[in-house]
Amino acid sequence: TDSDAVLRLEGIVAGYGDATVLRGVDLEVPAGTVVALLGANGAGKSTTCAVAASMRPTSGRVLLDGQDITSWPAHKRARAGIYLAPEGRGVFPALTVDENLTTWLPSAADRAQVYERLPKLAERRTIPAGALSGGEQQILALAPALIRPPRVLIADEPSLGLAPLVVEQIFELFGELRDRGVAILVVEEKATEVLALADTVAFMGLGRISWTGPRADVDDDRLTSAYLGLA
Ligand code: ATP
Repeated sequence: TDSDAVLRLEGIVAGYGDATVLRGVDLEVPAGTVVALLGANGAGKSTTCAVAASMRPTSGRVLLDGQDITSWPAHKRARAGIYLAPEGRGVFPALTVDENLTTWLPSAADRAQVYERLPKLAERRTIPAGALSGGEQQILALAPALIRPPRVLIADEPSLGLAPLVVEQIFELFGELRDRGVAILVVEEKATEVLALADTVAFMGLGRISWTGPRADVDDDRLTSAYLGLA
């Protein structure tokens, strides 16, 4: 229903210069829900994330808890609790793990909580973040969210280039945040791993959401037709 959507996109038309990429996108992400946005290359999934986090659409509205934030710049949206998980790394490579954490979490008690939940990071606290694997860097970048959960977490292809075990850990963190009420939008090109995490699935065809429904209603036929653009 209307009232529980934390993030809502309404009739979004957006593009780059003369190229229209989104042609009327409606999407909502309720509190405590993982919405997986799936679809072929170039469908407009990344642009949808950008519109939620920072980009000004040509028309349509972006609502956060019912408030129209369409014209808000990225930093104001971030302060209001919209967190776009950094693609790839998003940490300071020359600073140690602990120094990185300290920039986000100045309280030693908060950091201790992070280390308790993520013992691998604790083991690596004194080494430069740049020496961690890509996946460990993503986990480090996500760690502050465990202490201060955002209202909305948007992750654009978080599994890209990562080992399956790390993807599993990242999705486990997403699951924890979901259980704590965060509204989560995850974009993936391949449905494989994210389907286990998602509550709701939205398929994107060329610039439009072609189908939305509970994950339980997604079967192989639905996936195939969605990727072929028939959904
Ligand atoms: P992908 O998985 O390839 O990122 P996607 O579904 O996320 O696909 P988008 O990245 O949103 O799709 O791209 C949709 C279209 O917009 C593509 O045709 C792409 O070339 C174009 N596009 C994306 N970003 C830009 C940009 N910054 N400037 C110009 N065109 C862009």
